[in-house]
Amino acid sequence: MITLRSHLGGRWVEGGSPQTLVNPATEEPLARAGSAGLDLAAALEFARHTGGPALRELTFAQRGQLLQTMADALQARRDELLDLAVRNGGNTRSDAKFDVDGATFTLSAYAELGKGLGEAPFLVDGEGISLARSPRFHGQHLMVPRRGVAIHVNAFNFPAWGLAEKAAVALLAGVPVVSKPASSSAMAAHRIVEILVEKQVLPPGAFSLLAGSAGDLLDHLGPQDVVAFTGSSDTGAKIRVLPQVIRNSVRVNVEADSLNAAVLGADADPGSETYELFLKDVVRDITQKAGQKCTAIRRVLVPAAVADRVRDDLAGRLGAITVGNPAHEGVRMGPVATAAQLADVRRGIDLLARDGRLVHGDAALRPVGVEPGKGFFVGPVLLEVEPGAEAPSVHSHEVFGPVATVVPYSGGAVEAAGVVARGRGGLVSSVYSEDATFISQIVMELAPFHGRIFLGSAKIAEMSPGPGTVLPLLVHGGPGRAGGGEELGGLRGLAFYLQRVALEGPRPTIERITKGLP
Ligand code: NAP
Repeated sequence: MITLRSHLGGRWVEGGSPQTLVNPATEEPLARAGSAGLDLAAALEFARHTGGPALRELTFAQRGQLLQTMADALQARRDELLDLAVRNGGNTRSDAKFDVDGATFTLSAYAELGKGLGEAPFLVDGEGISLARSPRFHGQHLMVPRRGVAIHVNAFNFPAWGLAEKAAVALLAGVPVVSKPASSSAMAAHRIVEILVEKQVLPPGAFSLLAGSAGDLLDHLGPQDVVAFTGSSDTGAKIRVLPQVIRNSVRVNVEADSLNAAVLGADADPGSETYELFLKDVVRDITQKAGQKCTAIRRVLVPAAVADRVRDDLAGRLGAITVGNPAHEGVRMGPVATAAQLADVRRGIDLLARDGRLVHGDAALRPVGVEPGKGFFVGPVLLEVEPGAEAPSVHSHEVFGPVATVVPYSGGAVEAAGVVARGRGGLVSSVYSEDATFISQIVMELAPFHGRIFLGSAKIAEMSPGPGTVLPLLVHGGPGRAGGGEELGGLRGLAFYLQRVALEGPRPTIERITKGLP
């Protein structure tokens, strides 16, 4: 069994009190990782005082080039990373590609954005403003890298993408990173950092890794630091109210739970291309990564008139999914990540079932290629509720596994959006319709409650990865339950790591600064 060390202060260090990481399909122990006794205050200081200046010396284009070098280094070891995602993440190969290729794709996308920003070391924000009748008195906003460290705390479901998507934005902004992957699935994240260190891709201190639990990492937050967190809303809430976060006005971005919905329009008749796309996206979201995707569809809103048909079609397709050890050929869905996660999913299914009825369950599940009784398996589960049912748990409890509920509605846009809004804010919801009036109406009703709205249509069926895929150029995050955060979104994502400052003074002086002249 290997030990995952942390890379802090520019070197590999081993912490105490390790926990064991296992293969969730077989429960075979794979690695140990612990962080007890590590000097995390010193690690943050090293990042701030060594990594920060090295990054800020570079232009956006140069930092973009670093991101491309990172992407190339990971691409060269893709098979190794895919293998780790299968073994330690319970991912099928296709799930593993989603994580690992998503990581390289996002790094490359931000590399491209860096190239576009060119030789500037900071961003000029908007046009200059005349502040008096005479144009001499001038105003201009700039955005400069913060002088602190970005602490990235990630969830277990995307060890590669989670690390890379946050790192891409922070590093392009010129802010050093200390990344903490979730302990249970940290092997891919750890290997990524080993690859980057071996290749000496980044300047010392620009990127550090904490393997093991967070320990006192967040106790040392200073006023120039930022925290980007992905995980449960409970942990997010704890981080927000840390005294040092409040005292130092530390920026905290939270990506948390979300009861994402898919709404089928009344015009999308069974058998139509739009209907087929809807079925495909719902089934993909229930089964991909065993439903452990923050963006996965949890609530399936369908016109009451076709609810039985949709339910039967979905149940039929879910019944054809082969569940088992993802290392085996032909397995379409692996286990969930941990024993705790499995218990949580089982509890959640029981809770949702109180609101309605189990349509497709996993009582007869026999995972392929697994010793009986081993592994953290749950088969795909579909539930349904009555039209107009209160269904309090369906609209308030996220089951982070292969589980969704069919919720019938009358067919009207305002009613459907009202039902979706009961989820109290989400990352993404999707609408499957070709009816322009319905779409416009529902989009305006859904928009205040979401970070992203996916418009599923036959017109984009062939090229769309579905609502569950987060694209680097679009915002990822959502209000309310989803954490209130915003990541990615192309250049928008940089704002979190930059300090906006308004300059006010003589125009020639300000223009000289804006142009970066000495
Ligand atoms: P979690 O228990 O909150 O853990 C998330 C991360 O926080 C892990 O790295 C964990 O470390 C760390 N952590 C736990 N307690 C901490 C504390 N007191 N201080 C600092 N860090 C702490 O969540 P999870 O169970 O891994 O993730 C599942 C949840 O994440 C789901 O509810 C899902 O909706 C959400 N999620 C959201 C998104 C999104 O983008 N919005 C994406 C993926 C997942 P250890 O692993 O070492 O405990």
